[in-house]
Amino acid sequence: MTTPSRELPPTAGLPLRWGDFRPGSPRTLSDSLAALIELPPDRLTLTCSGTAALVVALTALQRRGRQRRDVIVPAYTCPLVALAVAHCGLRLRLCDLRRGHFDMDADALRRLCGPNTLAIVPTHFGGRLADMAGPLRCARAVGARVIEDAAQALGARHADGSPAGTLGDIGLYSLAAGKGLSIYEGGAVIAREAMLAQRLRACAQELLPRRWRWEIRRSAELLGYGLFYGPRGLRWVYGRNVRRALARDQPAEAAQDVFPSEIPLHRVGRWRQAIGARASARLPEFLDAARKRALLRCSQMRAIEGVEILSDRTGERGTWPALLLLLSDPAARDAALAKLWGAGLGVSRLFAHALPDYDYLRGVVAPAQVPNARDFAARLLSIGNSQWLDDVAFARIVEVLQESCRDARA
Ligand SMILES: *Cc1c(COP(=O)(O)O)cnc(C)c1O
Repeated sequence: MTTPSRELPPTAGLPLRWGDFRPGSPRTLSDSLAALIELPPDRLTLTCSGTAALVVALTALQRRGRQRRDVIVPAYTCPLVALAVAHCGLRLRLCDLRRGHFDMDADALRRLCGPNTLAIVPTHFGGRLADMAGPLRCARAVGARVIEDAAQALGARHADGSPAGTLGDIGLYSLAAGKGLSIYEGGAVIAREAMLAQRLRACAQELLPRRWRWEIRRSAELLGYGLFYGPRGLRWVYGRNVRRALARDQPAEAAQDVFPSEIPLHRVGRWRQAIGARASARLPEFLDAARKRALLRCSQMRAIEGVEILSDRTGERGTWPALLLLLSDPAARDAALAKLWGAGLGVSRLFAHALPDYDYLRGVVAPAQVPNARDFAARLLSIGNSQWLDDVAFARIVEVLQESCRDARA
């Protein structure tokens, strides 16, 4: 594959500015995040990643959860979720998706729920909101808790106006590279209930010690992110790795889905917090602009036969780090990816596989019959909704999608 001159990101991250890197900040990152999601500051605890937030949440629940050991997650989600459940020594239960959507299937969920269920983890996907009513109902019926995975949806709103992450008993967010607001690796865990929030904070205190080596490494990575996050820099830190993985036929590597099984657990240092706090002031405006771009692109793609765009349901206001397309035919999806993935246009797969289909997760995820999750993984294509995706680049993507869908029909 030839090296493109520009490399667009697969998701729209909030670009950092040099001013963000000054030391000191008028506000803590934790308070800024709490304000963004309209919670009192004591309900939110900052963590070193979204995965660490999940580890904290599961540990806090487990200590009160008596004999409960099952954690129900969508069969198509971030592999880090599976690694966090394994880290806590809990049992991962995969819920198949509703056909043609990333929501958990209601019947499958009811069948999985029982007296052993500790938590259900409904997951927002690429800024699109997952159904919360079903999981909340199932959890209440069996005395389990709901952990709302809003790792990809900081700043989104549910149809009733609640910020994403605040409808579950516990909510989690990620501040990883490329996920909107980023401090390279970071996260947060919240609870509306004061007592539960306090337990989360106590758990985080205990599980996330100061570890200077990690903080120094992350600070250097964040500087690199500030430097390289743009169409010129991403060639070196992102595009090269994608093309190498694709040349070796390693889709999970190309989708950046392969993670070490060891989960770094440590506190986030002051400097990175200050950077995040400053950048967070620009997040609402950034998300509004991304939404405007996305809605325009959606309208430009509406006419492509064989392409369905995953959109907000009535009243919802999701975030738009990427446009998520579901092609009617896996062959069309693969043909489109063969031309677009690695071409520097920000086209990707988001997650490469359903959880049972990652080779490296064999020891963590048991084989499972999850046909809808596999079908979803086989038909999904994502387009990074960055400010750098111009009309020329977008027209090229549309052209390939049209061709691929037409050929698959023929
Ligand atoms: C990224 C992600 C996580 C983990 O967050 P990190 O900050 O990368 O550890 C969890 N769940 C989902 C759905 C994610 O996309």
